[in-house]
Amino acid sequence: MPDLLIKNASLVATMDENSTELCDCDILIQGPTIKEIGPGLAPPPGARIIDGVGKVALPGFVNTHHHMSQIYTRDLPRMVNFVDILDWLDVNFGVWHELDPELVYISTLVGLGLLAKTGCTLVSDLFYIFPDITDKKLIDAEIQAAKELGVRFHPCRGAMSLDQSQGGIAPRNVTETDEEILLDYERLFNNYHDPSPLSMLRIALAPCTPFVATTNLMRETIKFARKRGLRSHTHLAESPLENDLSIKMFGMRSFDYLESLEWVGPDVWYAHAIHVNEDEIRRMGEYSCGVASCPVCNARSGQGLAPILDMQRKGVRVGFGVDGEGGYGDMIAELQTAMVLHCYANPEAMPKAADMLRIASQGGAQVLGWDALGSLEVGKGADLILIDTRQLDYAGCTHDLVTSLVLFGANHIVDTTIVNGDVVVEKGRLTRVDEDAIVERANKLSKAYIARASRKTGVDYSQIPLR
Ligand SMILES: [Zn+2]
Repeated sequence: MPDLLIKNASLVATMDENSTELCDCDILIQGPTIKEIGPGLAPPPGARIIDGVGKVALPGFVNTHHHMSQIYTRDLPRMVNFVDILDWLDVNFGVWHELDPELVYISTLVGLGLLAKTGCTLVSDLFYIFPDITDKKLIDAEIQAAKELGVRFHPCRGAMSLDQSQGGIAPRNVTETDEEILLDYERLFNNYHDPSPLSMLRIALAPCTPFVATTNLMRETIKFARKRGLRSHTHLAESPLENDLSIKMFGMRSFDYLESLEWVGPDVWYAHAIHVNEDEIRRMGEYSCGVASCPVCNARSGQGLAPILDMQRKGVRVGFGVDGEGGYGDMIAELQTAMVLHCYANPEAMPKAADMLRIASQGGAQVLGWDALGSLEVGKGADLILIDTRQLDYAGCTHDLVTSLVLFGANHIVDTTIVNGDVVVEKGRLTRVDEDAIVERANKLSKAYIARASRKTGVDYSQIPLR
């Protein structure tokens, strides 16, 4: 790959320890790393020059939680208007058994593609539905798509093993046995996991929630992950009902249960963590646990807002996640909404826009454990984005461009996304795949997928449920 020289970026917001911002500055990228940052850099022979005039350079964003396969159900009337979580699950359990590798592959091109276009260079996704079909290589289908797009990927091998016959909530046709899951952990670890600092792919392990996984699976997962140096992820306390359910099922609150299973530490991160009390936050901080906050999804489902600013002060590592069909799938919208919601929730101590950008970049990299990413510094991985500020969105913003990017952008599509020294988004378009063809294929698959589920279950998913 040729060296890249970004010339005359109007502003480079490095997100380093001192939050250094540099005006009219160049960035030289050699191979997968940042070689030099400063004014007037000379291009090495054969280097590709990228014009930075009018653009702000930022470290790439990191998405810490998502379910990309949910693109096909996100506008189903029964899904958009669900009555409660049980109704939401009822629809999903009716259609999920029809998932196959092609659906997963295309949804990953869509989900990762949109995240790359909205500034993400590293993405984690939690895929946990392994229906009773012959080809269960669904994480492999996600990985294939990530490779084609050129986005750094941290897929979570999700799992559900507690079915209805064992007192769980998931039907048997979308669950697996603990043994099947553990074997697939091993297979994915052996085939794909690369722990090197600038790896393009690391595997994480993620029973979906403690309510759909046996206690044995939770224990074996964290044991397996620690033995092989993998991260572990699960959902925690998205709704207040979860603590009640946890007390009923396990005799203790959700976080206490995870702690009792040793699901705590710097190698563990939780999605949501909204309904945790002060003492639980203090313990999460002491263990240095990570949290993927998903403010858009949480607000839309009326579940609340994780107190991430307080969590950070107490040592919890925090990133953002665009989270499946409840969110927009757009990282800039996520941090913009986060800014508004945290101002609303904390009128006495409103966050700064730069805090949101830092959580979205460096915060996310720390949650997932990628120390070579998250800031623009010499020697770090060349994962960065350029946002063109010469748009109506930012007209008149000549005093604090970094804040303007969070507060005023209506066009969330970045100009350029560079991952590992490669340009994967250029002038707002994915460089390696045909976006129009992906959209067409996703629409076709979506219709066929829901029709197939409808035929099998006899449910018309276009009907809005009665309240
Ligand atoms: Zn989720």
